[in-house]
Amino acid sequence: MHRLDGRVALVTGGARGIGLAICEALAGAGAAIMLTDVLDQAGEASAQRLRDAGHQCEYRHHDVTSEADWVEVVGACEKRFGGLDTLVNNAGIFIAKPTADTTLEEFRRVQAVNVDGVFLGIKHSVPALARRAQAIPGGASIVNLSSVAALIGTPDALAYSTSKGAVRTMSKVAAVDCGRKGLKIRVNSVHPGVIQTLMGQQVFDELGSATGHDSAEIEAKMIAAHPIGRLGNPEDVANAVLFLASDASAFVTGAELVVDGGMFAS
Ligand code: NDP
Repeated sequence: MHRLDGRVALVTGGARGIGLAICEALAGAGAAIMLTDVLDQAGEASAQRLRDAGHQCEYRHHDVTSEADWVEVVGACEKRFGGLDTLVNNAGIFIAKPTADTTLEEFRRVQAVNVDGVFLGIKHSVPALARRAQAIPGGASIVNLSSVAALIGTPDALAYSTSKGAVRTMSKVAAVDCGRKGLKIRVNSVHPGVIQTLMGQQVFDELGSATGHDSAEIEAKMIAAHPIGRLGNPEDVANAVLFLASDASAFVTGAELVVDGGMFAS
């Protein structure tokens, strides 16, 4: 149903975790993938596995905080695959600490990756996306990874929650802007609950040390906070991104797709 044959997708932070699952889902639907990350060895290995499975995939080193890297990578999509149809701003970092213990440097680092990275992605991909968007039935698509932390107050995660709130708002601004300009580019945000990745483990470890609990206790609390009775897995998020990248979501823009097993609803 959600086919992407002939489309080109750029996925940041694609070496592992949710980003890798997104690359696999989009490639499985027929898209050529530009998989980027700062983890070169893991990124190359993930891209090779996708090629071994018969997909088109290239890895590029790409620090999302670097404007020069964005220019290079978007250009590489056009040179290598002929254009760009989908951007997934997935790269992100997490920190949990009591606000009083969070240094200004830590706060700014989280905003640099999670907010500046998404801003630069939107800024530099829109011209490339616009070149092919009119020919795509559902338009080109930008999907930004936010979090349920953008929607509720998460104690001891002020820097991260602030950054994901900015991603949510940026997505809506870009959606309205692109729509009103007739660019046929849709922009949406995705809001996962706790997902089983290295970052998911970091959530348990850091919230544990911020609150004086061990990580197993935090994990049990987190599972209980998801009414569906389990944590998410990367594929749960990847399937939502696939929907937003595909023509099945042609009338969906400026929306926030919550993928959290009911956490936000409870
Ligand atoms: P991971 O930490 O497993 O993967 C994130 C990837 O992004 C890593 O490869 C990481 O590399 C990379 N990265 C970090 N900084 C940069 C940078 N400056 N430029 C390019 N790549 C970078 O995280 P997840 O897969 O769990 O998360 C993916 C996205 O989903 C993030 O935006 C996250 O905030 C969001 N999310 C995750 C949730 C979860 O519970 N896991 C919940 C809600 C949202 P490195 O190892 O160097 O940091």
